[in-house]
Amino acid sequence: MKRAGIRVVGIVQGVGFRPFIYRLANEYGLSGWVINDEQGVWVEVEGPAESLTAFAEDISQKAPAISQVESVQAKELEVQGETGFSILPSVGAAVKSAYISPDLAICEDCRHELQDTEDRRHNYAFINCTNCGPRYSIIRDVPYDRPMTTMASFKMCPSCQKEYENPADRRFHAQPNACEDCGPSYRLLDEKGCELAAKIDWEKIRALVKSGKILALKGIGGYHLVCDAKNEAAVEKLRQRKFREDKPFAVMCGSLTAARNLCQISAAEEKLLTSSAGPIVLLEKKESCDIAAAVAQGNPNLGVMLPYAPVHCLLLKAQDTWVLTSGNISEEPISYKDEGAVLKLSGLADYFLVHNREIHCRVDDSVVRVFKEEPYILRRSRGMAPAPIRLGSSGPSVLACGGEAKNTFCLTKESVAFVSAHIGDLSNLPTLVSYQEAIGHYQRLFDIKPDIVAYDLHPEYLSSKYASGLDLVRIGVQHHHAHIASVLAEHGICEKVIGVAFDGTGYGDDGLLWGGEFLVADCKEYERVAHCRYLPLPGGEKAAKEPWRQALWLLQDLYGADFGQKQMKLMEALPKGWELLLQAAAKGINTPLSSSAGRLFDSVAALLGIRFYNNYEGQAAVELELRGKAALGRVLPFDIRSGELDFRPTFMAMVDQLARVPVSQLAADFHVTVAAAIEAVVRDVSKMTGIKKVALSGGVFQNMTLLELVSRRLSDFSVLLNRRVPPNDGGLSLGQAAVARERGRSYVFGSASKNY
Ligand code: ZN
Ligand code: ZN
Ligand code: FE
Repeated sequence: MKRAGIRVVGIVQGVGFRPFIYRLANEYGLSGWVINDEQGVWVEVEGPAESLTAFAEDISQKAPAISQVESVQAKELEVQGETGFSILPSVGAAVKSAYISPDLAICEDCRHELQDTEDRRHNYAFINCTNCGPRYSIIRDVPYDRPMTTMASFKMCPSCQKEYENPADRRFHAQPNACEDCGPSYRLLDEKGCELAAKIDWEKIRALVKSGKILALKGIGGYHLVCDAKNEAAVEKLRQRKFREDKPFAVMCGSLTAARNLCQISAAEEKLLTSSAGPIVLLEKKESCDIAAAVAQGNPNLGVMLPYAPVHCLLLKAQDTWVLTSGNISEEPISYKDEGAVLKLSGLADYFLVHNREIHCRVDDSVVRVFKEEPYILRRSRGMAPAPIRLGSSGPSVLACGGEAKNTFCLTKESVAFVSAHIGDLSNLPTLVSYQEAIGHYQRLFDIKPDIVAYDLHPEYLSSKYASGLDLVRIGVQHHHAHIASVLAEHGICEKVIGVAFDGTGYGDDGLLWGGEFLVADCKEYERVAHCRYLPLPGGEKAAKEPWRQALWLLQDLYGADFGQKQMKLMEALPKGWELLLQAAAKGINTPLSSSAGRLFDSVAALLGIRFYNNYEGQAAVELELRGKAALGRVLPFDIRSGELDFRPTFMAMVDQLARVPVSQLAADFHVTVAAAIEAVVRDVSKMTGIKKVALSGGVFQNMTLLELVSRRLSDFSVLLNRRVPPNDGGLSLGQAAVARERGRSYVFGSASKNY
């Protein structure tokens, strides 16, 4: 007879862990108890030595799929001779710093019950259990217990209460547990917000959508605007109402089979689609894809998700494919408060399907694609945040404020980082407000009082301004160093690597706009060993939205006064007064210098006549990539001189060939040329430094063609990518936090416990 105390650390609360331990202990006939505490789960068990060993092994082997067990450690205790196994109640304050689970997609069991006419939750849109349902989005405060959630106002009926209290039940301590009798419910409103029917008829609502109506649907993390993806007129109407010209919509398919009819789906992609995170997965359309052209015009990819909330299962039939786009006017945050939503979305939707469970934290759909059989995250939000990211070692507590667009922030505590759900574009006032609220919320949830605030060096970023108002040790982190550090932090790498940060623009140490950077860096410091040549961005900010601007400057630079003779689409597309732009640029008026790699892709798109104005961020680059997809590229000339990578010879070659070589060929050539140039610089740097590890990050590496080409060319290196946070600015906050933790170690704080 032996007794063991077992410590389980990870996401092990609110995910059915104690009932799992309870069942496991009973299987092995062990006595003892289990409790949630501030470190996770603590188990004490008594029984034969070999059973204890097997029991401890099973904890990590058989843990509930949605939990994330980080470690299981056992130590021997004195035998007490107790009988039976019990689940002890958690002590209030003790649960303060436990991890909080992200919202989880509906599980198989709940899905069956939902469809089972005999089940008491048949057709109940808020069905959930310890294996699924809302978590993060409904939590007001910790400990994660019903009174601290937006379920507090719903008192469980006796049947629900019985399930909640029974350790053998799938709903034991499922905080959002509810049924038709006691839980939240949906209501259908017309466009003016007047209630239409007391009882919801799911078939009827589906019929409305099928007939071309636009539905505003309140879901888990906010409102979606919904329409039938196969109805061209409905999709067009949605585009007009949302003021969204070209940016592709994501769709929800009623089943995996429906998704397969539209797109190619690999095993890794299927795994993501059906995961408890339930993200939007970017897939390749099939020839036979029969959705409305307006969903993702001219784009060979399609963002697809499967039903993840019970209401989706009730609305969509297996064969349905619907557009689900966030309920907002372009670029504003997704609506999630009821008062706001009906007001804001009136004029956008024909009907409103609303419910009376408050969403405490808005959370957008996550967006992921698969690269080399592994997830490559473009937006980390619902189902993923705020799961902890384990850092290599302990360090000071940091609040990292993130960037400006695609903002996230990050809080660290000991050896764990919590990256927030996607916040969005901070230049937007409503977004800025929700940013400040969310920071306060995370600090309470995870009980973090940061010592240090990390921020981007750009003085105009609102996140940096926010940081400057805080009474903490302030550490500014260079934008591209943060991108590279985000990769290092994820992979727990401390040594120096060659970092390739190909990006839009970020503030450089010299006050210029960087964005095509080669760094030798670890998490603490970096050296800029090479970069793309500085080129003017006529019009500054506007150049990102209007690719013709830099392209025009390049033409003049390459061909002097004669450039006007060029027979190019670009020359025809120039707006009135373009000469003034060149004059201003020559004088340096509103024309910052930038080494941005992102802008080069834009300029090439304009030079090749593919796109002159962006209707959404990165559109020109996306279209350039798509245009070159089918062709086998050639390496065109480029220059590397004293750490400066110059693509002007490439542009010249392209313009010279434009009359006789297809645009698709030149688009492919440009990708191959950039990849070859990256390879050349990396090999040079590696020769000088002996470093064989390369980290790739920055928004340009959302270009899968380039990513693929570069990784292939560097196959004799160890190439590290972002896998847990996005390579775009959504991942910046993690990198900032990693840098500030390293630099912050040398700061001496007042108390001994704060010396790192
Ligand atoms: Zn469930
Ligand atoms: Zn009930
Ligand atoms: Fe960036």
